[in-house]
Amino acid sequence: MKHQTILELNGSDIPDWPMYVGGGWVASVDGAWADVVCPSRAGTTLARVPSGTSADVDRAVAAARVAQPAWAAQHFTARQRALLKVADALEANAEALAVLTAQDTGNALRTQARPESATLVALFRYFGGIAGEFKGTVLPAGDDQLQYTRVEPLGVVGAILPWNSPLMIAAMKIPAALVTGNTVVVKPAEDAPLTILRLAEIIGEHLPAGVLNVVTGRGSTVGEAIVQHPDIDKVSFTGSTSVGRHVAAAAGERMAHVSLELGGKSPSIVFPSAATPDRIEATAAGVLLAMRFTRQGQSCTAGSRLFVHEDVYEQFLEELTRQVSALKVGDPLDEETDMGTIISAKQHQTVREYIEDGKNQDGVRVVLDGTELATEGLDGFYQGPTILAGVQNTWRVAREEIFGPVLVVIPWREVDDVVAMANDSHYGLAAYVWSAQLDEAITTAHRIESGWVQVNQGGGQVVGQSYGGYKQSGIGREFSLEGAIEGFTQTKQINVKLSS
Ligand code: NAD
Repeated sequence: MKHQTILELNGSDIPDWPMYVGGGWVASVDGAWADVVCPSRAGTTLARVPSGTSADVDRAVAAARVAQPAWAAQHFTARQRALLKVADALEANAEALAVLTAQDTGNALRTQARPESATLVALFRYFGGIAGEFKGTVLPAGDDQLQYTRVEPLGVVGAILPWNSPLMIAAMKIPAALVTGNTVVVKPAEDAPLTILRLAEIIGEHLPAGVLNVVTGRGSTVGEAIVQHPDIDKVSFTGSTSVGRHVAAAAGERMAHVSLELGGKSPSIVFPSAATPDRIEATAAGVLLAMRFTRQGQSCTAGSRLFVHEDVYEQFLEELTRQVSALKVGDPLDEETDMGTIISAKQHQTVREYIEDGKNQDGVRVVLDGTELATEGLDGFYQGPTILAGVQNTWRVAREEIFGPVLVVIPWREVDDVVAMANDSHYGLAAYVWSAQLDEAITTAHRIESGWVQVNQGGGQVVGQSYGGYKQSGIGREFSLEGAIEGFTQTKQINVKLSS
């Protein structure tokens, strides 16, 4: 079964989707618009969104600033009620949001877009549920002193999003910022802004005007204006390490709070005990999932460097290749599709350049090449799964984040060597360890320099877990109570002299 596109739903006209500022829908101050291209129907424009400038950011920040004190002053149960209502509204619209995600991002509806929309709902519900946990402490300072802390919001938060799973990443920021009493200005990625605008529409009616604002536009204008804006107290950024480095420097210059969720080149380590006849199929399925093939590898947590022990190298590669080859690449709206499209022509080209580079290395073994994928009847940015074996950890394809469906496989013999190779990266976001032996699995997990290590499973983040990067994969934590405290609050100490 296939779902209709926005264009089919709207007739032949390309709809204009204004942005959401101060509780209303507006064009950009200077009236410019930008096309949003459908990645699974190359050359087709899904909609136009305002191409904002710093004037639009000014307007949104002013609205957020006005709304913030009253939003923060309420009893926490008022924010809790609002977030739980939002969660219910999002759940009621979950399927429509998933269909829109498939069109806007190219992520396949069944394998990707629906789980993303479900995570969005879960995160609003989770943060609504813990609204009362952002509380201070009282120091036992004697009868003549009342010394306590207040956990206070930062103020106005600027949230900058990437395109790879916009709803899920918005959900890592918006509910955590709101529940702690902040107001928010969101900037979606220019390649995939539609789900975020629809999100604002659904959320908007449950929040006071100005509490949530969405400004669309380019990173170099709207994103930059958010980072530089003197009235934005915190920049919460998810995107590439190169842009993140600039964001951190610019925000640091004006002493704004900043958190960064950046890139990754995460190791996936297979021990022989995970590739015995009774386990090999499940381990390969887990490695496939961890690689995020079904999101076209466009995931910061993709286990894209696969280290397989020499004793099981050939049989594991064979089983993995069998499973990966069976993935159906196709129209993201088709229920049969496992893997949709790359986001844009530019990213498509970048992925192919990396594959070419890998294929040109001495000693590489091209196990699966998704470049020659038959895409009859399809005209999007399709790229099939690709596996390059016999790779060395020093090659570009093993060091740089490709952000495409390209898995590199590296053999190993000694545990110390594989741990050293896994850690020989400027990234440290996620990692995966596959072993049937508890001791080797846990000790290896502890030795890996990553913010998140999974053992014998390769799925996505779950609500309440700590999530964030080591090294150049980021600063700060999301998805969790501790992440929200660290990321969206500041502590005020009050010391009062009491007279008896
Ligand atoms: P990107 O860095 O190109 O863009 C991210 C966002 O930053 C976009 O909204 C963009 O418009 C904006 N931006 C660009 N220039 C800016 C500037 N000068 N100032 C402020 N904002 C600016 O990243 P992308 O291509 O959209 O996304 C892919 C990257 O995101 C990958 O590196 C991926 O690993 C990373 N990512 C990380 C996580 C995580 O949780 N760690 C999650 C998803 C994606």
